[in-house]
Amino acid sequence: MAAIELDRISKRFADGTVAIDDLSLTAADGEFLILVGPSGCGKSTALRSVAGLETIDGGEIRIGGEVVNDVAPPDRDIAMVFQSYALYPHLTVERNMAFPLRMRKVAAAEANRRVADAAALLGIEALLQRKPGQLSGGQRQRVAMGRAIVRQPRAFLMDEPLSNLDAKLRVQMRAELVNLHRRLGVTTLYVTHDQVEAMTLGDRVAVLNGGIVQQVDSPHRLYRRPANTYVAGFMGSPPMNFLPGRLRGGALEVGGQAASASERWQGADGDVLVGVRPEGLAPGPPPAGEPAVAFDALVELVEDIGAESIVHVRPAGLEPAELADRPIELRGTLAMRVVSGATFAIGERVSVHAVAD
Ligand code: ATP
Repeated sequence: MAAIELDRISKRFADGTVAIDDLSLTAADGEFLILVGPSGCGKSTALRSVAGLETIDGGEIRIGGEVVNDVAPPDRDIAMVFQSYALYPHLTVERNMAFPLRMRKVAAAEANRRVADAAALLGIEALLQRKPGQLSGGQRQRVAMGRAIVRQPRAFLMDEPLSNLDAKLRVQMRAELVNLHRRLGVTTLYVTHDQVEAMTLGDRVAVLNGGIVQQVDSPHRLYRRPANTYVAGFMGSPPMNFLPGRLRGGALEVGGQAASASERWQGADGDVLVGVRPEGLAPGPPPAGEPAVAFDALVELVEDIGAESIVHVRPAGLEPAELADRPIELRGTLAMRVVSGATFAIGERVSVHAVAD
């Protein structure tokens, strides 16, 4: 096991694209660290740089304290699991898994033992004589994991390993990955664009945008205490609602309504952006005595997703700040999460409130 340190690394491709700009990030020894961000934010490039598949232009990459900038990929002692699994179609599962050991001239008896152990750990003993073409997507994914495990590397690098699986299998494999990490305790750097995967898998999550780290924190803190509006809007589905507001003498004003005063806000007068999670909005008048923003709104869309509904409301007298990633027809609306059973009709006028915390 070993810590992975990215120390002010930069990568510019030949065509001038700056994929990573002065990026610093550390996965502690034994940690499961997630790199999450939108397509093109540089997360795969960062991972490939750690693997040695990309040459960086600046900075230092250290694995277990050793600078590996000039160490060839096979000598970095890390195993990478790709989205495509990259299995050899003409080899059996057993031989696919043993392949990296053969390359390293590990004795046959030792190789067999490691393959058997990994197969047992992943529950694929019965598949060892099959070829990849005779496996389901989930089984192939396990074989790719098995091939990484048998190497007993210092660290795992995983690039969207679950994205080719259907939704149900992805949830199952997510739980298996968490278990596997608990049992093996190997430092893991895991890339995904899926914020649910990031929230459920990682000890800590690094949110990347435009090749720059926006925040590195526990999933809970990223959700509750986002460092900026980018992180606030990225984590959570539907994303956080934003309303322009103003602080005056420690009191918050939204849409001309004074919502609350707080010591925390003393001395921070000026225009602010107020973030409200969909679960922070509720129908009906605000509870008595609680500092809250209340307003009337029109119901524009109701999405019933089983246990709960997402009700999109267009507030009267408040102008929400636009979220760039929200569908154009929903801009100017706020998403409110309510338990199913409460019925809302499109076009209905409702009163809505948010309690300030
Ligand atoms: P995705 O989730 O879509 O895989 P990503 O966050 O992993 O995205 P990267 O693949 O790291 O993003 O790419 C970062 C940026 O570098 C993008 O703008 C991409 O177009 C660019 N890029 C990646 N590979 C190359 C290359 N070989 N040559 C030029 N530009 C590249």
